[in-house]
Amino acid sequence: MAKKYSSKINKIRTFALSLVFIGFIIMYVGIFFQKHPIVMTLFMILGLLAIIGSTVVYFWIGMLSTKALQVECPNCGKPTKILGRVDMCMHCREPLTVDPELEGKEFDESYNRKK
Ligand SMILES: [Zn+2]
Repeated sequence: MAKKYSSKINKIRTFALSLVFIGFIIMYVGIFFQKHPIVMTLFMILGLLAIIGSTVVYFWIGMLSTKALQVECPNCGKPTKILGRVDMCMHCREPLTVDPELEGKEFDESYNRKK
């Protein structure tokens, strides 16, 4: 089965969003431990940490977005951003590369790790 790829920025965004939900779930679980204030506080702190973490991740996406190369997707014509040597269009998942050497080759995320 072929691996499914998605744009890196979208991936990080999904991660940040799920972190917010995880944070709220942890805090919600804490409510069930009302008779044990220490356990409840622990859950609240953990939940808060997850939410703070997602804020940090969101901030990081913002930093990455400013550094990412903005291009117009040749497939759907919408503007998208490329991180690293190869990335995917945020709209249509068309593989894109900034390296002419890799043009026409099959999309492989491992290209990002090579020097
Ligand atoms: Zn596209």
